[in-house]
Amino acid sequence: MTRTHGVGQWRSEALSAGHVADYKPFVMVDGEGVRCSLYVSGCPFACHGCFNTAAWSFRYGTPFDDTLADRIATDLAHPAVQGLSLLGGEPFLNTGVCLAVVRRLRAEHGRTKDVWCWTGFTFDELLAEAAAGQDDKAELLAQIDVLVDGRFEESLKDLGLAFRGSSNQRVIDVPASLEAGAVVLWAGLPGAAGPVEQIDRRALI
Ligand code: SF4
Repeated sequence: MTRTHGVGQWRSEALSAGHVADYKPFVMVDGEGVRCSLYVSGCPFACHGCFNTAAWSFRYGTPFDDTLADRIATDLAHPAVQGLSLLGGEPFLNTGVCLAVVRRLRAEHGRTKDVWCWTGFTFDELLAEAAAGQDDKAELLAQIDVLVDGRFEESLKDLGLAFRGSSNQRVIDVPASLEAGAVVLWAGLPGAAGPVEQIDRRALI
């Protein structure tokens, strides 16, 4: 059964070992356009039917280091690359790694490159974490353009869905959601149509 958590219970500073399960440059399946995909290690959600159980361990793979950081930065600078994709494992419980990469991307490219992220947290849970003082999660969320949120639910598995494995998961336009005060689905997704539910904007400040 998928594990759950209380607000603030799972923190990157306590769980992350700073390990990376994989890095794949110039891929076309992890979001829109040509992308560089970073798979961080460690996920406590333990969803039944998870596609990547090897990466549940926070010590799976290899330590993130300056060599990999430089390689990612070089690859992201390629004019054909639209952006960075963060996958796992759980990016929001490896914020040390993810923020290092994202901060450098923003410093070198501003918003000319985009950031997609897959997380087991729901968008609403991340807002609650941010409101409870989890500043690393808040900073990472604010830097993401498109968020695919929520646990994988095997009973809702649908191989026909774009960018996600089960129908409970959403492909969210994060800047538009923060601006609107409601979850806005990414417009590039078939059937996406404006705000779908209200969110607590106080958590976004
Ligand atoms: S949240 Fe994602 S990586 Fe984590 S157990 Fe669930 S499906 Fe696997």
